[in-house]
Parts: sequence; structure tokens; C-alpha cells
Amino acid sequence: MAKLTVSDLDLKSKKVLMRVDFNVPIKDGVIGNDNRIVAALPTIKYVIEHGGKAILLSHLGRIKSEDDKPGLSMRPVAERLSNLLNKPVTFVPVTEGPQLEDAINKMNDGDVLVMENTRYEDVKDGEQVKRESKNDPALGKYWASLGDVFINDAFGTAHRQHASNVGIASNMPQTAAGFLMEKEIKFIGGAVSNPAHPFVAILGGAKVSDKIGVIDNLLDKADKVIIGGGMTYTFYAAKGMKIGNSLVEKDKIDLAKEIMDKAGDKLVLPIDSVVAEKFDNDADHKTVDGDIPDGYMALDIGPKSVAAFEDVLKSAKLVVWNGPMGVFEMSNYAEGTLEIGKFLGTLSDATTIVGGGDSTAAVQQLGVGDKLTHISTGGGASLEYLEGKTLPGIAAISEK
Ligand code: AMP
Repeated sequence: MAKLTVSDLDLKSKKVLMRVDFNVPIKDGVIGNDNRIVAALPTIKYVIEHGGKAILLSHLGRIKSEDDKPGLSMRPVAERLSNLLNKPVTFVPVTEGPQLEDAINKMNDGDVLVMENTRYEDVKDGEQVKRESKNDPALGKYWASLGDVFINDAFGTAHRQHASNVGIASNMPQTAAGFLMEKEIKFIGGAVSNPAHPFVAILGGAKVSDKIGVIDNLLDKADKVIIGGGMTYTFYAAKGMKIGNSLVEKDKIDLAKEIMDKAGDKLVLPIDSVVAEKFDNDADHKTVDGDIPDGYMALDIGPKSVAAFEDVLKSAKLVVWNGPMGVFEMSNYAEGTLEIGKFLGTLSDATTIVGGGDSTAAVQQLGVGDKLTHISTGGGASLEYLEGKTLPGIAAISEK
């Protein structure tokens, strides 16, 4: 069944509550990177162009004490949004009460208002009460009372049951997905519920333990599961191969064996690695086949692995990629991730999806993102979605 989206709503003169993801990196009031604000613009613009009054809520960082509040105010975000929209944005420095209600009542059609960080509600009078993060029913009900309709465009928090997503939704007659959320549901949701075949998953990153749910779920759905990155070497250890000083989760070796038994030839492991004497970009490094020699640690996949992976990927109709192939943050160990990213960009017949978190950072840093179909904005949310879990934030969006 399809979810209700912003384009299904009549927005004219409506007070439109919007949960957006403005959780940007911020230090001393200065925004490090405004990608998330930019990503929310299409839905915000749509709402105001259709005569809605956009009332925006988002969390920013984590609030554990009163001291955390000043550094995590939404004010600089509201200012940046105003610059990006090229129009005034009202910032209200509270999350409830007459000041907020009056400001909302004064809004004209097409106006934009940003209220203070929803997580200010997590600490009241110095006490950690987590009203937002534990979905206090009274808070969701109160926020819902401020608007006529609710749009959830914050995929990054969809795996959490918070007052500002699930709480508001459960007190609204209808909740619609924003355009960003709609895209995540279409691509990541679609990949796990109704994948095109051949479907190839590429799973990398540091730890098997972080990815086990995804490996398990995608082994059932994909035609091939390619493994890369640091978790490779727990699989190598499970095969009885030498791993030198490479990253390994000793307590997951049995699990890796079970996965390999279950997967058979569905699982594709690297056949060569770039190894170094130290976890350092300038360390002596070389490429080796198979076993990792004593005194070395594997920090990237090698060219033979890249070629083998490309051979598996070339006929794919759907590719989901989560986790880098190596320590992409260091230029000498970024090649595997870069080559796979570039190759995915050449697959014009395939839907290519990057599953968030470090993989998103990797494709952006390496500049290979623009030729891929979808780059998820969520970290934990994409991972849980790929694990096949129901995300409470998405479950709370109305069906069409
Ligand atoms: P994850 O958050 O699980 O996707 O892991 C991403 C992190 O894994 C990145 O910071 C990479 O530097 C790291 N990583 C990838 N390959 C390796 C490797 N062979 N050894 C150590 N760390 C790695």
C-alpha cells in the first residue's frame, strides 16, 4: 500500500506542522555543513508555494543537561534556512507555551516558522525527563494541537519513536510523508519489500556486529551479497585464513561461519587486500592475495577484488550498498571504495542505492554520488530499514 504524501494534501491556509531533519553539525553556533537543511527545501518550498503556513520542528544534537541547551539552539539553523529560502523565517526560542502559540496564530499563508530544538523538552528544570525522546503522550498531543496537518520528512529519526514524529502523528487525523521521506520509502523500502533482480548487496564497514541484521535480511532477498571493509577479516578468520593484525571480532567468528554456511556461493568475499604495517596513511603498504601476512593489517580491498566485484555487479538491476570497502578516510586506502562507487555510476540499467551513514559520507567525499539513483539521508534508520524492521516513524504515516 502506498503512503500519503505531501502532494496529496490540500495545504491552502493550513497550519502545516512539519517534522524535518535539521540535525546539522554545529559548533559554537556555526553550522559545519548544511546538507540536511538543503535537503529539506523541496518539501518546505512546496508547502509555502501551495499557501500553507510551515511550522518546522526538528531535533539538534543530544540534550542531557541545561548546559547543553545554548549550544544546540535552532536559531542559527533558522537563520541559514532564511538565507537558503531567501525570505524571512520566524524563530521561536521555545518549544511550548503562549509565545509559540501567538507566533503561530500570527502567521500568514506562505510564512515559515522554526521552533526551538525539540530535544529541549528532554531536560526540564535541570532534570532529564526525555519528554521528546521517550514520546511523552502529552507532548505529542500538545504539538499536534498547534497544526491542522502533519508532514513527516525526517527519515533520519524514523527508527525512533519520539513525540515529534510518532507522538504528533498519533494525534493527527492524517500524516503525510514529505518528498525526502517519500524517496527513502520508495528506494530503501522498495529494495527490501519488492526488489528487482538480479539484486546485489554490497556490505562493508568496520564491524560484522553492526551489520549482522542487514546481512541476514539481505541474504534472503539478494542474489549476491558482497562483503568488503573491515568485517571481511572476521570472515577470513572463520575460514581459517591468516588475518595478521586486521580488524577482527573474535566473538563473531562462529556467527561468520554460520552466515557462510547459510549463504553458500551467494556470499562474495574479497580475494586480495591492501595491507599496511600501521593504521596510518603513510605506513608502508602493499597488495597481497588471500592471507594477510603477520605484522600487517588489511585496510582496503585490492584490485582483483574490485574486478571480481564488478563482474558480479555488471548484470545487476538493483544494488544496495552499505559500508565502505576500506578506510576511505585515508587516501591510500580509499581506492576500493572509490572504484566500486565509480563502477556503480556506470550501471545505467540498474537502480543504485547507497544506504546511509558512512557510505553516504564516502560517496560524497569521493565525489561519486551524482550518478547513483538514491543516497539515503539516514544512518541508523537506513540500517534498520535494510534489516527489514518496521520503522515507527514510517508506520505512523497514513496510507493513501
Ligand atoms: P561502518 O560505520 O560500520 O559503515 O564503518 C565505517 C568505518 O569502517 C569507516 O570509518 C572505515 O574507515 C572503517 N573501515 C573500513 N574498512 C576497514 C578496515 N579494513 N579496517 C579498519 N577499518 C575499516
